[in-house]
Amino acid sequence: MNPFDFQRAGDALGAVHAISGDAKFLAGGTNLIDLMKNGVERPRKLIDINRVALAAIEPLPGGGLRIGALARNSDTANHPLVRQKYPLLSKAILAGASPQLRNLATNGGNLMQRTRCPYFMNIEFAHCNKRIPGSGCDALHGFQRMHAIFGASEQCIAVHPSDMCVALAALDAVIRVQSPRGERTIAMADFHRLPGETPQLDTNLKPDELITAIDLPPSPYAAHCDYIKVRDRASYEFALVSAAVGLDVEGGTIRGARISLGGVAHRPWRAERAEQAVLGKRPAVELFETAGRAAVEGARPYPGNAFKVHLAQRAVVRALSAAGGVA
Ligand code: SF4
Repeated sequence: MNPFDFQRAGDALGAVHAISGDAKFLAGGTNLIDLMKNGVERPRKLIDINRVALAAIEPLPGGGLRIGALARNSDTANHPLVRQKYPLLSKAILAGASPQLRNLATNGGNLMQRTRCPYFMNIEFAHCNKRIPGSGCDALHGFQRMHAIFGASEQCIAVHPSDMCVALAALDAVIRVQSPRGERTIAMADFHRLPGETPQLDTNLKPDELITAIDLPPSPYAAHCDYIKVRDRASYEFALVSAAVGLDVEGGTIRGARISLGGVAHRPWRAERAEQAVLGKRPAVELFETAGRAAVEGARPYPGNAFKVHLAQRAVVRALSAAGGVA
């Protein structure tokens, strides 16, 4: 690990005024410290934000919920209001990592975690545009099992590894950030980027912006939701594919639907055609089969991950069937 300076921030403004150049914020450190140990990240300075008061989870006027960026993943998943009003989020968080990691990892850190593409994670591989812009992409002709089937580019085919973020995309979360210039909000749909020509950029966060909270709007999906994660082993593994589903069912008819996929793109991937396919209809196996096919329209797999298209389709059908009560 490279030498670095260490500074502790007492509040959010102090943190964003202290950040510069090659500095990084340190929260749970469950991803950043690993990346520093293997030489992928080499910050010259860490700004420890663990003492900044950003861990509260509190109701918003109008029925939403504000979740602090520094609330730990475990505390968030097990919070009574999250379990009651946003069980989809609770289930997605609990599908991620291990209990020990969830006890340390923060919500802000979860949003900021980096891809687990093996060519990115191991500096022995010379060609990775995300780690070394302009160097190429070893995954394009290499191991592609964990890589994207939507939204990739010739520069990068990596996926975002989070479970929590897939649920946040389905729940239309809004990310609150602080910078020296003030506060702003970013819709979850705009927070993570597709790789395009700049795969080194994972998010639209500016270098001096700190995530302070995640706002969840009132949700009509608590009674009919599910998160399905398909992975190579039953725990402590990233998703091959995942599906977060919320249905607003009134009088036996689907009035609203949210379907988001994980493990398939550089950001959580909203399946809007599948959402449209179920609107105004009654929950039924045949309907959810149609939605599953719609969810993977436009997929562009690579030779090493073509199986993911069918896997994603089946994950959507399973999650819809469980959420709609026709499983
Ligand atoms: Fe790097 Fe992206 Fe290619 Fe992986 S897929 S080697 S992260 S450029």
